[in-house]
Amino acid sequence: MKYSGVLKKMTTEFISPVNYYLDMGGDFLNMNQLINKTISIGFVKYQCLACGEDKKIFRQGFCYDCFYKMPQTGDWIMRPELSTAHLDIEDRDLEFEKQAQLQPHVVYLANSSDVKVGVTRKAQIPTRWIDQGAHEAIEIVEVPNRYLAGITEVALKDHVGDKTNWRRMLTNNVKDLNLAEERDKLFAFVPEEAKPYVIENNKETEISFPVEKYPQKIKSLNLDKTQLYQGVLKGIKGQYLIFEDGTVFNVRNWEGYVVEVGV
Ligand SMILES: [Zn+2]
Repeated sequence: MKYSGVLKKMTTEFISPVNYYLDMGGDFLNMNQLINKTISIGFVKYQCLACGEDKKIFRQGFCYDCFYKMPQTGDWIMRPELSTAHLDIEDRDLEFEKQAQLQPHVVYLANSSDVKVGVTRKAQIPTRWIDQGAHEAIEIVEVPNRYLAGITEVALKDHVGDKTNWRRMLTNNVKDLNLAEERDKLFAFVPEEAKPYVIENNKETEISFPVEKYPQKIKSLNLDKTQLYQGVLKGIKGQYLIFEDGTVFNVRNWEGYVVEVGV
């Protein structure tokens, strides 16, 4: 069977192991069912997630023009401490920014390769952790807006990392840690404004991914260079499809690319 559609990150269902779905033009492929099967991925064309045009994708599924225009790609997305909706100050579209920023946010610790600190809207838990390939995660604070989460993250970054080593994540070269202990050590560094919002008594969330076999060495599938790939799917972690020959495909990296998937 051939399916075709524009790539968007897979949707997930938080059960054990995580269930993954890929939307291919309205057909939702349950990717877990394709594990141990041969699948192909072929590039067809671009389709910007905003304007829909067949224009080279620049970042996050958007063409260059849309990337610099859309409110959902403002600097406050990657750097939450730059959020200004709580001050009624517009970046690109104040209504959009109020909706996105003035809602509960969580600063968390997640362990996907090393312990790292991150920020997400509360409504995105545990989706965000699953997308990062974290096998365990825990909340540190829950604050009423994105700005407070951002300044907390900045303060904690001095004491814990904020990057994932995706090679270690995908080869499962990871450790189990007691994240509640790690979190407790960080409370002292939470900024005064966010201190009333610390979460002290919750436990870590464990996430298990549908992977039959982790590769020893990995290479990344680049759709710009390899326009047709075929391999046996061995598992899914984060937003990565993991194949038997060590090829990994980060679905999220290729948002906005129209592909044909053969199963
Ligand atoms: Zn566009």
